[in-house]
Amino acid sequence: MRIGVYPGTFDPITNGHINIIERASKLLDKVYVVIPSNVNKQSLFSVDERVELIREACKDIPNIVVDKTDKLTVDYCLKVDAKVIIRGLRAVSDYEYELQLATMNKHLNNDIETVFIMADHQYSFLSSSGVKEIVKFKGDVSSLVPSVVNIALKKKLLDK
Ligand code: ADP
Repeated sequence: MRIGVYPGTFDPITNGHINIIERASKLLDKVYVVIPSNVNKQSLFSVDERVELIREACKDIPNIVVDKTDKLTVDYCLKVDAKVIIRGLRAVSDYEYELQLATMNKHLNNDIETVFIMADHQYSFLSSSGVKEIVKFKGDVSSLVPSVVNIALKKKLLDK
């Protein structure tokens, strides 16, 4: 069975992430979408809220599992028997960070390969931080995120 892990912050999940998940789910038998729970990065949504939003947004994709972990990604891969880490690549600006991450993971476990899926051109400008910024200024993100995320963003950022 070909198993992959797609790790990310997903704060919150966007249509760009979902596009990567859908494409990965066609290449692999099972995809674990995983949020690291021990990262100090300031996030808008809690880890559990992010897990719930991904579950709701991806409920029609049959071969994915949404999870959180306090393990290193490569150790999570060993736990679920995954040989592949999936990451998405947008512009050249993603490259340096992704190269560093992939090289580090390869150093930690040489048997696990990072596979990059190029962002679909319609999502190549799309980021979670951009979406949050737009909502803060009352802009419309309905074409950029699933409706469950749109509702959650408005509640978090505008219902004061
Ligand atoms: P992280 O903090 O781990 O980078 P993100 O949620 O920002 O978490 O991104 C997770 C992965 O998804 C990264 O590989 C990122 O490049 C990719 N990604 C983010 N937005 C998009 C998008 N619009 N299209 C394709 N890939 C994306």
